[in-house]
Amino acid sequence: MIISVASGKGGTGKTLIATSLALSLRNKAQVQLLDCDVEEPNDHIFIRPVIDRTEAVGIPVPVVDEAICTRCGRCAEVCAFNAIAVAGEYVLTFPELCHGCGACSYLCPEKAITEENRETGVIESGKADSIDFTQGRLTVGEAMAPPVIRKVKERTNNDGVAIIDAPPGTSCPVVESVKGSDFCLLVTEPTPFGLNDLKLAVATMKELGIPCGVVLNRAGNGDKNVIDYCESEYIPVLMTVPLDMEIARLYSRGITLAEGIPAWQKEFIGLFDKITEIVDERNRCPER
Ligand code: SF4
Ligand code: SF4
Repeated sequence: MIISVASGKGGTGKTLIATSLALSLRNKAQVQLLDCDVEEPNDHIFIRPVIDRTEAVGIPVPVVDEAICTRCGRCAEVCAFNAIAVAGEYVLTFPELCHGCGACSYLCPEKAITEENRETGVIESGKADSIDFTQGRLTVGEAMAPPVIRKVKERTNNDGVAIIDAPPGTSCPVVESVKGSDFCLLVTEPTPFGLNDLKLAVATMKELGIPCGVVLNRAGNGDKNVIDYCESEYIPVLMTVPLDMEIARLYSRGITLAEGIPAWQKEFIGLFDKITEIVDERNRCPER
């Protein structure tokens, strides 16, 4: 089963939930943790894996042979990202805008375009006790997160439980991270910002057809509007984590909830059981 952990906004406790869920399940199932928050992967701080495999990730960007090019402009016409342009007698390429789709080289009538690899990040894999761990790391200054995320997800092991820590927000990197998941846990907090971003995240999951449930973090402050919204939209609130100084202290020291307060492991196993029930029910009745 693939469970992604996402949030409409950063700082809601997504990492806390993803890492604690992985640690709590490690004696129950074969667990894999995939950190797709490639701009700022920090699951490794909490589960301390031994990294034994590193692989560079790149995208193919165009290189124009100006001796063959006729300046016909076809490449610039087909590029949806303005990553190639013809200006008078020059053909200009902007590798940092290129998505590596290959359309320009494919459609160039003179075959004047070849491709070269441009490194945009790395994938790192290893073990944290029995947990298989993989994270992506986007090169600083790069904007193209999806290719790195795709590479992380290529390492998904479908035999056990794969937990995907998605980036915050609702943009392309989130969609790339969560698509293909059996379930998405949305971590939020009971504040107006939390509610606003939860609504966006729920809309994204609905669009992708991924069932979702909510973990309400830092409960006890704020208001009841997130709970009311979830009730009105029939979104289950599967777990509540209180606003608690001890949890905040553990987090600031890089200690997960499941390790710092072992009683929480039972809560996370209960969370997993509820997710399994929902996924099984949906597999039985896909139209629900
Ligand atoms: S499509 Fe090919 S020939 Fe035409 S401008 Fe681009 S590189 Fe040159
Ligand atoms: S590979 Fe795709 S994105 Fe990159 S310059 Fe060519 S058409 Fe544009």
